[in-house]
Amino acid sequence: MHRDHGNRADRKRARLKYVVDDMGVEWVRAEIGRQGAPLSPLLPMGEFAVPDLLGWHAQGDGRFWLGVPVAAGRITGPVRRALREAVARFGADPVMTPQQDVLLTNLAAADRAPVEALLRAHGVDLAEALTPFARWALACPALPTCGLALTEAERVQGPIVASIEAVLRRLGLAEERISLRITGCPNGCARSYAGDIGLVGRVPGAYALYLGGDFAGTRLSFKLFERVRQADLAATLAPILADFAAGRQEGEEFGAFCTRRGPAALAELVSAAARSG
Ligand code: SF4
Repeated sequence: MHRDHGNRADRKRARLKYVVDDMGVEWVRAEIGRQGAPLSPLLPMGEFAVPDLLGWHAQGDGRFWLGVPVAAGRITGPVRRALREAVARFGADPVMTPQQDVLLTNLAAADRAPVEALLRAHGVDLAEALTPFARWALACPALPTCGLALTEAERVQGPIVASIEAVLRRLGLAEERISLRITGCPNGCARSYAGDIGLVGRVPGAYALYLGGDFAGTRLSFKLFERVRQADLAATLAPILADFAAGRQEGEEFGAFCTRRGPAALAELVSAAARSG
């Protein structure tokens, strides 16, 4: 199908998914059927949910795993020493997650307390020490690791999270589950277009601000501003978060709220806040 119908004139659209988008699902189904392998009817999908893997969980075989948060997935310094010791002393089998964290799996019940004590002794922050906002934030490696980076991501995750956390606390939203995704360039390796808040590096120290994705990563966000300086991110988000705190609907998540309000209304909130000083 891609050989015959794919768009090779535009490299960005030279993907099978665009053939499906252009030709339609029914056409694709008929085409596959024509080749002698008809597809079964579409199955309904349940609501997509992101499981919370951090903290202690029973594996179902009598053993346990401990999900350990790792900021931006960077295993270094005391975190590395603690994880190495947990593997060496307790036989933990580490599993990396797409949320940039580590699961120490296959632990015996009797080892739960000593493993936790070991991590704490190394100064590792466990999940309960983090706000939901810090816990769910992601950042790509960007500078200095990635040659495509236009600005920082991983190394500024901490300060950016702290500045927005302060706004959330002030508005009574500290326990709200909001996903933040920071990338150093538009390639979006930390899924910056699919979270509640996406920061996409444009030039050194400035980011395009995306809003309106959803926590489960099933809805794309929209660009609200092309360039916001890192120092202005929290102040830019503050009037939007305040409006969310005051005007959200029952059970409405931040991304859904932003989508409902739309970019024009959100931009006006920020302008009005700037005018009023
Ligand atoms: S988003 Fe850009 S800067 Fe970040 S890892 Fe991917 S390519 Fe590199």
